[in-house]
Amino acid sequence: MAFESLSEKLQGVFKNLRSKGRLTEDDVKAAMREVKRALLEADVNFKVVKTFIKSVQERAVGQDVLSGLNPGQMVIKIVKEEMEALMGSTMTEIQLRPGNEITIILMAGLQGAGKTTTCAKLAGQYKKKGKRPLLVACDVYRPAAIKQLQVNGEKVGVPVFTMGDKQNPVDIAKASVEHAQKNGNNIVILDTAGRLHIDENMMTELIEIKDKVDVFQSILVVDAMTGQDAVNVAKEFNEKVGIDGVIITKMDGDTRGGAALSIRSVTGKPILYVGMGEKLEDLQQFYPDRMTSRILG
Ligand code: GDP
Repeated sequence: MAFESLSEKLQGVFKNLRSKGRLTEDDVKAAMREVKRALLEADVNFKVVKTFIKSVQERAVGQDVLSGLNPGQMVIKIVKEEMEALMGSTMTEIQLRPGNEITIILMAGLQGAGKTTTCAKLAGQYKKKGKRPLLVACDVYRPAAIKQLQVNGEKVGVPVFTMGDKQNPVDIAKASVEHAQKNGNNIVILDTAGRLHIDENMMTELIEIKDKVDVFQSILVVDAMTGQDAVNVAKEFNEKVGIDGVIITKMDGDTRGGAALSIRSVTGKPILYVGMGEKLEDLQQFYPDRMTSRILG
C-alpha cells in the first residue's frame, strides 16, 4: 500500500507524543527530528521537508500549545494541518469553459506515466457528468498509443478522433477542434506524445500545440512510483510548457509517497486527480485532507 512505511513511522511518533502528559520544547524538537527523517525516507523533496518541519515547529512551540491541555494532541493536529496545506488544503477541479463552449485539455507526460489510460479515465468521468467529450490521438510516434486510445475510448463510450500516424500533431489537434464543433463535443482531450525522458522536441511540440489551438487546461500526468523524478519532471514541464495541474498515477502501488507530498509545494500547481488502478474507473479527485488521513491514520 502507498505510504505504508511513512504512515507507520509517523504513527509511532504520534503514539509517543500522545503518551506524554506534558511536553517540553525539546520533546517537540525530538519528535520533529523523527518526522523529518520519516519524510525524507519517504522521498519527500528536501526543501519541502525543511519548510514543513519549520512551520510545524514554530506553531507547536509558539502559542500556548505546550502549556495547554493535551499538548501531544495539539502537536499532532498541527502536523495534520500543515500536511494538508502542503498539498493545497482543498480539492482543485479542472477548469472548464462556461456553458457549451469547447474546453480543450492538453494531456502531457513521459512515456509509461499512464497518460493514455488517464485520458480515457477522465473522458469517462466527464461523460458520466453529462458532458460530451472527444478523445484525440495526437501521439503519432507510438502507433500502439492510437489503438490503445481507441480501445479505451470505446470502453468508456467516448468517441476518438484520429488521423493515423502520418500527420503532424498540431494539424491533428486543429482538425479535432473543428470535428468537435461540428459534432457538438464540448470537451476535447488531446493525448499528446510522451518520450522516455524530457527532450526538447517534446517540449517544442507541446508549446506549438498550445500556441496553435486554444488550449484551456494543460495537465501533466506523472507516475507516483518514480518519486522525486516525477517532481523534477513536473517542475520542468511547468517552467518550459506551463501546466495548470498534475495527475499522479499508480497511487495504488506501494509508492513511498514523496511525489504526492512534494509536487504542490515545488511547482505551485495543484494535484487534480490520482490514478488508483489500471481499470478505467480507477481515477479519483484529489482531496488533500483525505490523503493526509491516509498517511496519518
Ligand atoms: P502512457 O505511455 O503515459 O500513455 O501510459 P499508458 O496509459 O500506456 O500506461 C502505462 C501503464 O500504466 C499501463 O499498463 C497502464 O495500465 C498503467 N497504469 C496507468 N495508470 C495506472 C494507475 O493509476 N495504476 C496502475 N496500477 N497502473 C496504471
